[in-house]
Amino acid sequence: MGFGARLRDAAARAAERALNNKHMTTIRNNWTREEVAAIYNKPVLELVYAGASVHRQHHDPTEVQVCTLLSVKTGGCPEDCSYCPQAARYHTEVKVHKLLEVEEVLRKAREAQAAGSTRFCMGAAWREVRDNRDFDKVIEMVKGVNTLGMEVCCTLGMLTHEQALKLKEAGLYAYNHNLDTSEEYYGDVITTRDYKDRLDTLENVRNAKISVCSGGIIGLGEQEGDRIGMLHTLATLPEHPESVPVNALVPVEGTPLEGQPRVSVWEMLRMIATARILMPRAMVRLSAGRVKMSLEEQALCFLAGANSIFAGDKLLTTPNPAFVQDREMFQQLQLKPKPSMVPIQ
Ligand code: SF4
Repeated sequence: MGFGARLRDAAARAAERALNNKHMTTIRNNWTREEVAAIYNKPVLELVYAGASVHRQHHDPTEVQVCTLLSVKTGGCPEDCSYCPQAARYHTEVKVHKLLEVEEVLRKAREAQAAGSTRFCMGAAWREVRDNRDFDKVIEMVKGVNTLGMEVCCTLGMLTHEQALKLKEAGLYAYNHNLDTSEEYYGDVITTRDYKDRLDTLENVRNAKISVCSGGIIGLGEQEGDRIGMLHTLATLPEHPESVPVNALVPVEGTPLEGQPRVSVWEMLRMIATARILMPRAMVRLSAGRVKMSLEEQALCFLAGANSIFAGDKLLTTPNPAFVQDREMFQQLQLKPKPSMVPIQ
């Protein structure tokens, strides 16, 4: 082939790539499970490349959101999530504590903000929110964090429409409620509620005009089909979640899943890149399990389309890289923290 022909050939391939990219970045809620599987099963480096391409069309790839997750009420949960050390029925070393005082939570939020976090998520080990004094306290916490100019998020279990409205009124920016895994595998992980309960809460959150944060955990003993199934459910919700946390199981002694093998970086990359391609505008959060990842592994995850992390040395009850480590990582990878979407009041 002559030079001119090679040039034309290269141009044709570039045009085809652009076309493919354009096709991929259309926001769709009608993905089929087969399409999701085809993306998930691409050769891994092709998948990372595709995720990186979509990422660049919707986000500044040098920006990463920094979030802090604080457990405001720990342990003693009546649910039986088999990965969770906070379930009362498992014998773990988690120290149970009742709901923290509002002032203490606000102090932690200010500390997180000073360390560079722009989103502050408060987690309570509850099955569901009850309309009692504890909920009133959470409302005060939400108001307080909101005035700091941080995106305030809660993860409190199941929520009614009325409770969602109260949280919205208090200034709640986002609500986290993970699907955890596929509908088919859900009963193998949790028996005290069902998948429909999860979807109902997500609907209540969405209807209250609160930003939706929902993702899952891999390494629970599920098949690849379950990972595909979970991503398919998320990507075919009437509106995509604004945040999609991708967690790798951190096995905790005393829980039924204590002996699960470590999730590999390749599995994380498949999840992250597929989530990025299916839900281009979402913040894809590299969540639990990061503490075991090298800098290089985390860099690959950012390349594949992750653009959010949890910072601070604890993720509810499990270990997480400290702020100072992440600061070094940001310097090394020349990343910058994404600004908060909420103005200081
Ligand atoms: S994951 Fe949440 S609902 Fe499940 S046991 Fe733990 S604290 Fe309870």
